[in-house]
Amino acid sequence: MPSLSEKAVSGSQGSRPGQVTPLRGKYETVVLGGGPAGACAAGCLAVEGRPVLVLERARFPRFHVGESWLPLANPILRRLGLTPELDGMAKVSKFGATFCSVEGDRSARVDFRDAPDVPEPHSFHATRADFDALLLNQARELGAEVREGCVALEVDLENEPPRVLVQDDRGCREWIETELILDATGRRGLIAKQLNLRVVDPELRKTALFGHFEGVPHLGGAAEGDIRICCREAGGWVWLIPLAGGRMSIGFVFDSSERPKEIEESADVCLDRWVAQLPLLDGCRDSLRRVSPAIWEADFSYRTMSYSGDRWLLLGDAGSFLDPVFSSGGQMALQAGAEAADAVIGALGRGRRARHRVFGRYDRAQRRRYRFFRRLVVGFYRPAFQELMYQPETWPAGARALASMLAGQDCPRLTTRLRVVILFLIVNLKERLTSQYQ
Ligand SMILES: Cc1cc2nc3c(=O)[nH]c(=O)nc-3n(C[C@H](O)[C@H](O)[C@H](O)COP(=O)(O)OP(=O)(O)OC[C@H]3O[C@@H](n4cnc5c(N)ncnc54)[C@H](O)[C@@H]3O)c2cc1C
Repeated sequence: MPSLSEKAVSGSQGSRPGQVTPLRGKYETVVLGGGPAGACAAGCLAVEGRPVLVLERARFPRFHVGESWLPLANPILRRLGLTPELDGMAKVSKFGATFCSVEGDRSARVDFRDAPDVPEPHSFHATRADFDALLLNQARELGAEVREGCVALEVDLENEPPRVLVQDDRGCREWIETELILDATGRRGLIAKQLNLRVVDPELRKTALFGHFEGVPHLGGAAEGDIRICCREAGGWVWLIPLAGGRMSIGFVFDSSERPKEIEESADVCLDRWVAQLPLLDGCRDSLRRVSPAIWEADFSYRTMSYSGDRWLLLGDAGSFLDPVFSSGGQMALQAGAEAADAVIGALGRGRRARHRVFGRYDRAQRRRYRFFRRLVVGFYRPAFQELMYQPETWPAGARALASMLAGQDCPRLTTRLRVVILFLIVNLKERLTSQYQ
């Protein structure tokens, strides 16, 4: 197999900013975006000795939201040659989640160790700047060629083979030809937007406002390291994610229809005020200090009409994204990365029909996983579901099934699946009874 350097000629060398260098080289697989999905796909391909080029617009480390991970990410990290302990990286170990009211008067804990079908019931929280840099570096170590500071501007899918127009951070442009394109550009979604595939989820139109703080004590005892998900009335919630170095990521999620004007004028002022008003943080108001800019994101839940085309796949957020209440996004991105690499390996060197079969399987796997987690996320916003969550002792078997799902187990054993079905039947029944007596 030719090495990358033999196959590809760097077209940007010697070109002037703004000038497009004529095409001279061809890659087997080009991955757009070096976040978890792209880095994972590239790493898994490189492990198998497949030549792969990653184009990443940023220079790492870079900020990204989403610090909390799920146990089902562990086997994928291992496949990339990383231990789930991520030796040397600053992180907080996570064994579960604590759900509570913002007043702090109600709470319930989900412990991953109670989940029946989660073999490694632990995960971690880490800043994405650190974690994403570790992943991308690992892909590089495994043999992927990574170009940071290179933005993919458009893809030409009419061409055979397809090609990508790339611009580096000096403004030099080149077309890169490739057999297959893996789009892992996150919420920017280059191909999904170019082909108009994205559909915003009308049931999950939410906005999030978040930042990092110091001076908020972490929980103690068994709950130490838990993500705290604090439910507010009117379809909102707050996350508290403990980070290394005594920091806490705090984010507010609320209906986009309730987004205050002031958030656009000064997100910092808005976040500081909301945090100061959180009853849960009454005891530490004087020590609270924001140590990052406040950032807001709106309407981030969407699906795609398709995850695959003749010579392309959509990975992670570039395909679909769900409200982050159960921290499913990062894991789904890693799973998509690993599965996309398998699909590429199954498709390369084979005819069009075989490729369509393999890509069709990839497409169906992403759809199924999206539907699985979406049901859980939409369920979270139903008061009857939250009631059950607060009372795990009333149905321990159901609570264990829930722990399994919250650990990211999207292919649970039959008994867990049946318990989840029953859980939702109870939620439906409770809602019907409540509406009858109102
Ligand atoms: C408010 C909020 C809170 C969240 N909290 C969590 C959480 O706690 N846990 C969790 O697991 N998930 C969380 N998520 C989701 C999580 O951040 C994403 O699901 C995850 O980052 C997806 O990974 P990805 O690789 O698909 O995309 P990304 O991580 O977004 O990576 C995409 C990469 O592509 C690059 N890129 C973009 N466009 C181009 C281009 N044209 N050319 C080249 N490169 C490009 C970007 O620079 C970026 O590095 C949260 C999301 C939101 C909105």
